[in-house]
Amino acid sequence: MTVFDLRSVRLRPGEQRREALDVELEPLSLGGQEYRPVPPCPRASLTIDRAASGTVFRLRLELAVAGPCMRCLEEASLALAIDASEYQATRPDSEELSTPYVADDLLDLSAWARDAVALALPDRILCHPDCAGLCAGCGADLNREPCRCPPPEPDPRFAKLADLRELLGG
Ligand SMILES: [Zn+2]
Ligand SMILES: [Zn+2]
Repeated sequence: MTVFDLRSVRLRPGEQRREALDVELEPLSLGGQEYRPVPPCPRASLTIDRAASGTVFRLRLELAVAGPCMRCLEEASLALAIDASEYQATRPDSEELSTPYVADDLLDLSAWARDAVALALPDRILCHPDCAGLCAGCGADLNREPCRCPPPEPDPRFAKLADLRELLGG
């Protein structure tokens, strides 16, 4: 877990501090599958801006998220650029004015980065935008091979119609 000790920074209003640090990220779980951050400790840039009434934190990092394609289960990788901001009032009188990632003068960068990555993920992680996926019937990987499902059974109502036609015709 990567935590930044805010007591190491004493800023006066108007002052800014920039830090570059490696943020440890946990794998994310999505739809029962695990997606790994690549690299597991991406280098992040943290900017701390002290204003009169509070502090603005900005976290920027670039990483990839790797895991199974949600259609065909082949390895998929997605590049993400994260740019997140949080505000902490000097004297917060409501929860809206305080970030959930600061407690006891410690900024929990791992939790913040994990949540920001989760928010930045699309609904579906695919190996390729046009991934054809697996056939629900035979399991064929439709990106590589044709479907092996047997042709559909004829509708029994048509069979009855054919019998009827035969009767009428004969
Ligand atoms: Zn796929
Ligand atoms: Zn099939």
